[in-house]
Amino acid sequence: METVIARTQSEVDTNEAVRSAVSALQSGEVVALPTETVYGLAADAFSPAAVEKIFAAKDRPSFDPLIVHVHHKDAIRDVAEIPEEIKKAVVQLIETFWPGPLTLVLPKKPAVSKAVTGGLDTVAVRQCDHPVFHRIIRNFGGPLAAPSANLFGRMSPTSAQAVMDQLEGRIPLIIDGGACSRGLESTILKIEPGEKKPLFTVLRPGPITEVELKKFGKVVFAERNAEVEDSSPEAPGMLENHYAPNKPLRLLTSPGDFSPENGKRYALLSYRGQAKDGYLESYEWDHISVLSPGSGRVAEAGTRFFHVLRQLDAMEEIDEIISEPMPDRGVGKALLEKLKKAAVKG
Ligand code: AMP
Ligand code: MG
Repeated sequence: METVIARTQSEVDTNEAVRSAVSALQSGEVVALPTETVYGLAADAFSPAAVEKIFAAKDRPSFDPLIVHVHHKDAIRDVAEIPEEIKKAVVQLIETFWPGPLTLVLPKKPAVSKAVTGGLDTVAVRQCDHPVFHRIIRNFGGPLAAPSANLFGRMSPTSAQAVMDQLEGRIPLIIDGGACSRGLESTILKIEPGEKKPLFTVLRPGPITEVELKKFGKVVFAERNAEVEDSSPEAPGMLENHYAPNKPLRLLTSPGDFSPENGKRYALLSYRGQAKDGYLESYEWDHISVLSPGSGRVAEAGTRFFHVLRQLDAMEEIDEIISEPMPDRGVGKALLEKLKKAAVKG
């Protein structure tokens, strides 16, 4: 199958791209779409046959559930049940963070097939904040299932070309909406009734952080249990080797941790590129990439994360990626988690 990239630089191009995307989605096809987090691979959430094509294109195991995107806030009720005890918190979260990178896990409505939810009785739902995605889903007029547009277990794409590199020949159409502004997958939050406040379990850390969420409920982070998760993952974004570059990656916990092997060429993935952190001068690196040049802001590091990892992966003169640890707070939590998983392979 030929894979076409449709551009959206001009108004004329955008109109044409939106038309082609909507018509492909209506005829049960999959289309890669830009979002503010990472590129998504979308299909009609109410068509099991279309949803099946997402799994096939990604080589994704059928137990790994998809995120459902809604075309407006109220449409959450078309796909999810909102129990009375948590209604207030859900409304507050939606009013505060939607459209945006917060995915809510709630009991599913019968209309959502188990093909979408990987057999679970819950559904993960969000409203995306990207102008081109917004026009496409509004014209489509119903929910779209859309996980990240990468092959299963590989890095999430943050540009149309990165989608092309992984899915060329497997999908008919990619809509190019530029580089993703957040660059990291959404925060996934399971919401349940709690004792005093509703209980929010962060199943996947992301751009919306604990500090922002705790105004509305009690926030806990899901414990990782690799053995259980690998057979029946609650948030299978948590599977081992997720987000992995092709090259081996090692995650350091301190500058003295690193022991080079003879003849290998190493790149340092640095958080803020400052000598005082102790990593820059701890070895004669063959290359250094800085995630947040100068200022050391985790949000900036988050936006650049997959882009920089892809660059390192493509460098012929580098054999292995050595990463500094990221701060275990805010968006840094998401980076640290991704690095830990990528590092399993190395
Ligand atoms: P992706 O967009 O490719 O990162 O995939 C969506 C991710 O959302 C899955 O891998 C899961 O981690 C998560 N997810 C989707 N549906 C559910 C659900 N019902 N319960 C828990 N996690 C979910
Ligand atoms: Mg993914």
